[in-house]
Amino acid sequence: MHEVSIAEGIASAVQDAVGEKTSVVSVRVAVGELAGVDVEALVFAWESVRKGTCMQNAPLVVERPEGRAWCMNCCRDVPLHRHGDPCPECGGYQLLPTQGHELQVLDVEVPDEPPETGG
Ligand SMILES: [Zn+2]
Repeated sequence: MHEVSIAEGIASAVQDAVGEKTSVVSVRVAVGELAGVDVEALVFAWESVRKGTCMQNAPLVVERPEGRAWCMNCCRDVPLHRHGDPCPECGGYQLLPTQGHELQVLDVEVPDEPPETGG
């Protein structure tokens, strides 16, 4: 399953970033609409991949940057939510996807310093 290897890749990138001893609070990733990743499957895969790691209590927070494409008929930038969809303006298929393929770790939340008491 494709999403399992993505989840494993995220987990190892996070572990490299924070070290094995830091317990991670949450992990935020961007998965573009056109990245071809099933987000539900990815979150499901994450649940098993994170077990026994520093991320075992960290939810995977998925952001979905919008897919966009350049329509050669309209000569403008239009939203494209899925590969193979027509242009929402003219209904044509002369589309060049320009964004929405990202698949990256945005940030990793780790515990704050212990809060100061008093004051
Ligand atoms: Zn168009």
